[in-house]
Amino acid sequence: MQSTMMNYPLTLPHILDRAARLYSHVEVVSRMPDKSLHRYTYGEFYRRSRALSEALLKAGLNRGDRVGTLMWNHYTHLETYFGVPCAGGVLHTLNLRLSPADIAYIINHAGDRFLIVDDVLLPLLEKFKDQINVERIIAVPLTRRSVPDGYDNYEDFLAQATGKFTYPALDENDPLGMCYTSGTTGRPKGVVYSHRALVLHTLAAGLADMLGLTQRDTVLPVVPMFHVNAWGIPFVAAMAGAKMVLPGPHLDPASLLELFEHEQVTCSAGVPTIWFGILQALDKNPGGWKLIPGMRMIVGGSAAPEAMIRAFDKHNLRVVHAWGMTETTPLGVVSHLKANMDHLPEDEQYAYRAKQGVQAPFVDIRAMNEQGEIPWDGKSMGELQVRGPWVAASYFNNAEAQESWTEDGWFRTGDVVTIDPEGYVKITDRTKDLIKSGGEWISSLDLENALMSHPAVAEAAVIAVPHPRWQERPLAVIVRKPNAEVSREELQSYLAPKFVNWWLPDDYVFVEQIPRTSTGKFLKSVLRDQFRDHVLSRVE
Ligand code: ADP
Repeated sequence: MQSTMMNYPLTLPHILDRAARLYSHVEVVSRMPDKSLHRYTYGEFYRRSRALSEALLKAGLNRGDRVGTLMWNHYTHLETYFGVPCAGGVLHTLNLRLSPADIAYIINHAGDRFLIVDDVLLPLLEKFKDQINVERIIAVPLTRRSVPDGYDNYEDFLAQATGKFTYPALDENDPLGMCYTSGTTGRPKGVVYSHRALVLHTLAAGLADMLGLTQRDTVLPVVPMFHVNAWGIPFVAAMAGAKMVLPGPHLDPASLLELFEHEQVTCSAGVPTIWFGILQALDKNPGGWKLIPGMRMIVGGSAAPEAMIRAFDKHNLRVVHAWGMTETTPLGVVSHLKANMDHLPEDEQYAYRAKQGVQAPFVDIRAMNEQGEIPWDGKSMGELQVRGPWVAASYFNNAEAQESWTEDGWFRTGDVVTIDPEGYVKITDRTKDLIKSGGEWISSLDLENALMSHPAVAEAAVIAVPHPRWQERPLAVIVRKPNAEVSREELQSYLAPKFVNWWLPDDYVFVEQIPRTSTGKFLKSVLRDQFRDHVLSRVE
């Protein structure tokens, strides 16, 4: 017997059309490089996205051709998010924080045919332009009307469109976009998203216990649109009909706070580094900005320390912790308290909220160690493995990296976790950052979280240092808060009641700043190199 249901494709044009039909009045607000605000509606966004599709097809775009974007978060980038895939092209967002050589490598590896570039980023493009071979470069005039010679003008490009355009027939398994991992470990690797994966991710991400966006929300993704689809937010917002606020290149705390207030933002998203800055600004000037009480802040990319979640609650802003990867589109797990946890003591609630959360529907999870699958007891540690309709099954043109998948078809995340009986996943480390002391594992993230709850500590990274007897021992690298004083001994006695003795760092060093990746994660490989020969003098 066969089902009697239609075989309706899960493709992006549906989301674009529906957004225009139902929410054409909803605003998209963008902050431009000169700090002025550009405003238009979903109606205009729809018209221009389709104009881009039409113009790309006129320019000879074939199915599956890659269109690279080198852009900040603003309305034009949003148009490419929809205009490129709805024409059958593949939106390839480029991380503008990578080195010019890496960006060139990625463009060449992906085989980009067209590039769309913000005029303010042309100086960056010039640094590697002679290393790439793309057919056409379209510059977006954000700062003045014209663009330099040698580039197509995005506005002129769009002006060729007649509006009489029908989408090419798309298969739900057609590629829609691609993104390269930020290369915290090794050369960047390309992930290719399909329409189906993206649509299912959008449906799941919109759920109340995931990102929970509705047409009553105003959402501001601080997370760059060049990084893993800005965590899917532009797609979820368009499906939900939420007002979008795009911050352009102005990501300093004061600019963001001002925009949260001005546009009455109800939900934002970004990496912990951004929120640390915002917290400092709020602590310095409490009540300085009139924010929507209970505004949600989705935090991911690196761990949201419990101390940060508590501190934001004092400002009536609610952190929602989430975990994901380029390879998982990215949402994998999200942390909301379950209703049966409402009666728990506050400390236990915070402990749950500081975990990365529970699996999204259709994301299967398990954690494995040498003995096999670990029990969900909240204590055993193993490598997190995932599978699901928006989890990558391979990398683009990269057979070597196939060891990232198990023989039975799960993706190995490289993250070490515990999973508790309620199903909450807690990341304790990356496999490459693990500290292996005398054959046992020490969680650097647990130590970092505890250290970052000390009032004098701004940031803490705990790394493995070679040790003659124990193979490796933890070294804590600390950035103190401005004008704050704290000694090694004080930090050690602060940690002592919280951990078993052999977990405690052997030593502490104080630095001005911790090196970071292009997406704001601690670059521990650099720290490990820097402190490889550090002579540990154990603090007792
Ligand atoms: P890359 O792997 O190149 O750094 P991604 O942005 O795909 O780029 O990073 C995914 C990784 O980021 C995860 O494997 C995990 O180590 C880390 N990560 C993401 N979210 C969290 C989180 N909430 N807590 C801890 N680590 C996280």
